[in-house]
Amino acid sequence: ARHFSCVKVLTRRASLDSATSVFLFRRFSEELHTRPRERDTSERERSQSVTAFYYQSAIDQAAAKSPDKSHILRSAQYLSKELPVRIAHRIAGFRNLPFIVGCNPTILQVHELYIRAFHILSNFPVITNLQGEEKYSDTLRQLLDDHKDVVTMLAEGFAQVRKHITDENLIRTFLDRTLTSRLGIRMLAEHHLSLHDEKPNHVGVVNIAFSPRRLIEKKAQYAKSLCEGKYGNAPNVVLNGHLNATFPYIQPPLDYILTEILKNSFRATVETHSSNGYNMPEIVVTIANNDSDFVIRVSDRGGGLPQKLVQKAFEYNFTTAGAVREDHDGGLFDSFVASPQSTPTPGKMHGYGFGLPTARAYANYLGGSLTMETMEGIGTDVYLRLGHLDSKSESFRI
Ligand code: ADP
Ligand code: MG
Repeated sequence: ARHFSCVKVLTRRASLDSATSVFLFRRFSEELHTRPRERDTSERERSQSVTAFYYQSAIDQAAAKSPDKSHILRSAQYLSKELPVRIAHRIAGFRNLPFIVGCNPTILQVHELYIRAFHILSNFPVITNLQGEEKYSDTLRQLLDDHKDVVTMLAEGFAQVRKHITDENLIRTFLDRTLTSRLGIRMLAEHHLSLHDEKPNHVGVVNIAFSPRRLIEKKAQYAKSLCEGKYGNAPNVVLNGHLNATFPYIQPPLDYILTEILKNSFRATVETHSSNGYNMPEIVVTIANNDSDFVIRVSDRGGGLPQKLVQKAFEYNFTTAGAVREDHDGGLFDSFVASPQSTPTPGKMHGYGFGLPTARAYANYLGGSLTMETMEGIGTDVYLRLGHLDSKSESFRI
């Protein structure tokens, strides 16, 4: 039976591949033709999304907003060219995975989702008017929903094939690229969709008056409720620093990053101080902001990590949470997670070892950094550093 299913997998892959390769090839040759100096895909995607945001930045958008909605039409036309190319690059990434990895049913399922999305988007009729744009937006909305579990699926799939892989770099490169590219695609799509809404303080996905404090409070409350659900107990979170700071920023990736950092601190604190009952050391979050950057530091007294594990903590699938299967008690909380790209382990405290590496990949993608200082036996500080969005300088380069 196993042999048979592998053969089936093989033929399925083969037929899908031949169907897409024509498109892929055409796309690639166009790409290479038009952009001879930017052949490295991640470099290209980076600069592409950067340009996208640069040109669609809050200020430009506000200025370009036209009462006849032609800015929405232009945005859709731009996406209809851009998205298939980006997705094609991701499909190429899946095809280059080692055979044993690409054959994993969960990973293959994600591969197929990308191929399907590629066909839907590249076969979409040319958008010439607002009716076409309306249909295009519906399609995007549907695809965003179809792909919402991709991070969890990849986390699960790679947890299963990990034991067959010796080349750590290969996995890291693939996942860094796939996850950040997905983030970029989703941000572009959501940005477009939100051009339709009149949300106060927002231009597309850019929140003009983003308040780190408000976001941290919200995420802390969410992580706390998860923690209480799992352990029956949770420490408090206190905030200090530049509590009143507000500036323009794109919130969705921060939702993810902060949730993951906070969940880790909650878990470490509760597991280290379980005998202290309700008298646990609080988690302290500091906001620091200047003209060019802002830093969010999350400090816990959760016992830290041995120095030799700090590197490992940033590897995909490294976890000290024990077998993944043991942690399948998240059912109750699954429904709490509404945000599409919220967490790779929806409603769960921990489990796949994807939190830190994904959060760091996102931070790097946004042009910032995520670092950790830990003291075994005492606690951990995680620093998230990000540059301000600024349409004048290049700091807004995503
Ligand atoms: P997961 O939470 O699923 O285990 P992460 O990538 O979020 O995966 O974290 C990887 C590992 O790093 C954790 O299992 C834990 O051992 C360690 N870690 C992360 N944050 C902390 C922290 N604040 N204190 C102590 N250990 C931590
Ligand atoms: Mg975690």
